[in-house]
This record gives sequence, structure tokens and C-alpha cells, in this order.
Amino acid sequence: MPYKVRIDPRDTCISDMVCVSICGEVFEMNDDDGKSHIKAEFRTDPNNLAEGVIPDDLKDCAQEAADSCPVNIIHVEPA
Ligand code: SF4
Repeated sequence: MPYKVRIDPRDTCISDMVCVSICGEVFEMNDDDGKSHIKAEFRTDPNNLAEGVIPDDLKDCAQEAADSCPVNIIHVEPA
């Protein structure tokens, strides 16, 4: 089952890289604004850095990142 992943509101990311450390398969830091974004390969809209769809085998690491984000802006839900 695919899962939707959102970073919302992305502008409140504090750039501590926790999500990237836990789940670098899905998240990476953006060179322009220094905040986390969804890797391009998973984005539903190439221009929307904050939303994507991931396969089932990445759900657990994305959920762990969501549970660990200090500002609770990562959301994982069935697509
Ligand atoms: S864990 Fe949260 S605050 Fe930290 S970089 Fe990722 S999205 Fe931003």
C-alpha cells in the first residue's frame, strides 16, 4: 500500500536534520532554504517540496521520522 508523506507546515522546519538522519531514503535537506524536503523521486508535484507518495517498505522509516520530528510537521497516512 502506498503512503502519502507531507511536511506541513514546511516553513516551520527547524533544520535539525532528524528526519534525514532517520529516513534519508525519503527526506533530504534543501540547498536553497536549508529545510527538509521530500526527495524528488517521491513527489507527486515536482514543484511541491512538501508532499509525496512512498511505497510500503519506506513507511516505517518515514513514520519514525514523523514521530521524532521535534516540531511535529511530518505526517504519514495511507495514500
Ligand atoms: S525532523 Fe522536522 S524539524 Fe527536523 S529537519 Fe525534519 S522536518 Fe525539519
